[in-house]
Amino acid sequence: MSTTPARPYNFSAGPAVLPLPVLDEAQRDLISLPGVGMSVLEISHRSKAFEDILARAEADVRTLGRVPDNYKVLFLQGGASIQFSMVPLNLLTDGRAADYIVTGGWSQKAVKEAKRVGIVNIAGSTEAENFNRIPRQDELTLDPNAAYVHITTNNTLFGTEWKAEPQVGDVPLVADASSDIFSRPIDVARYGLIYAGAQKNLGPSGVTMVIVREDLLARSSKSLHTMMNYAVHAENGSMYNTPPCFGIYLMGLVMRWAIGEGGLETIGTRNAEKARTLYGEVDRTGFYRGTAQADSRSQMNVTFRLPSEDLEKLFVKESTAAGLDGLKGHRSVGGMRASIYNAFPQAGVDALVDFMRHFEQRHG
Ligand SMILES: *Cc1c(COP(=O)(O)O)cnc(C)c1O
Repeated sequence: MSTTPARPYNFSAGPAVLPLPVLDEAQRDLISLPGVGMSVLEISHRSKAFEDILARAEADVRTLGRVPDNYKVLFLQGGASIQFSMVPLNLLTDGRAADYIVTGGWSQKAVKEAKRVGIVNIAGSTEAENFNRIPRQDELTLDPNAAYVHITTNNTLFGTEWKAEPQVGDVPLVADASSDIFSRPIDVARYGLIYAGAQKNLGPSGVTMVIVREDLLARSSKSLHTMMNYAVHAENGSMYNTPPCFGIYLMGLVMRWAIGEGGLETIGTRNAEKARTLYGEVDRTGFYRGTAQADSRSQMNVTFRLPSEDLEKLFVKESTAAGLDGLKGHRSVGGMRASIYNAFPQAGVDALVDFMRHFEQRHG
């Protein structure tokens, strides 16, 4: 007998909606993992059972993301936020400077930590426009000798997203891809390092994925604190210490789900359609107003405002009551934010559009 209660459509920016079949499987197997008899929460990370879970999760990440063989896939802790420190600690070496392109609050936090480590050049920023767009290539001042160029591929708070990578020549491109990782096909070979907290598109909070090109591991100094050292985590296959076992297990289930759905091509097509539907409604009459410039709009976080803050408050209240949860925008933008990650269904977008129409009819 199913005891699953009715669930609202979950527009949370993160931790965010997960595929229902994944939750079902995790629930079914929580007490006794098939072939193991104990919970995945109870077994040693050095057991054969867990080694298999980790190996499979990594293999599925590689399959889904078509990760080339000369890249390591690491499962770490500390969220994306600790990568703000680990990236410069490992890669900002030899007295060189790093280029940071600042496109929102998360980029700013990355800059803050990198400045504690070395020299940071702001190679581009759209702060003067409250981060409502991604800078154009001709606005960037990139240093050909930089240790790396850091970007935030999707700006979760401001609802903007890079449509293509900036041209950075031979300088390694480092990306915080926390909120749009694996939302469409990705050419990993264009990057030196990609990191992502799992809780938007990959799984639960508590595990952070790092994909790093092997040659860059040579930059990690032996004098680094052990847990901050990418090379140590790579040499130990993410098992230097106890890894986030449950997070890796669940992320593995999400990877398998994504592969089963048809991989990143299918997922990308679906995400494009969801975003098209929702922006179409935002633009339909002028009652709603998208906050991001059209060419920079995110397919993951759709941000929009209403004619007044009173109407925005009412919209939050009534949409929540209608089973559309988590639409209140981040305070740095105000208004609404609909986060429509991989696991978010088209039916939920259609329900929101329907709600928006009726809301406008009543209050427009
Ligand atoms: C959510 C988010 C973070 C922060 O992740 P934590 O896991 O909470 O540290 C960093 N960058 C981006 C782009 C995010 O969306």
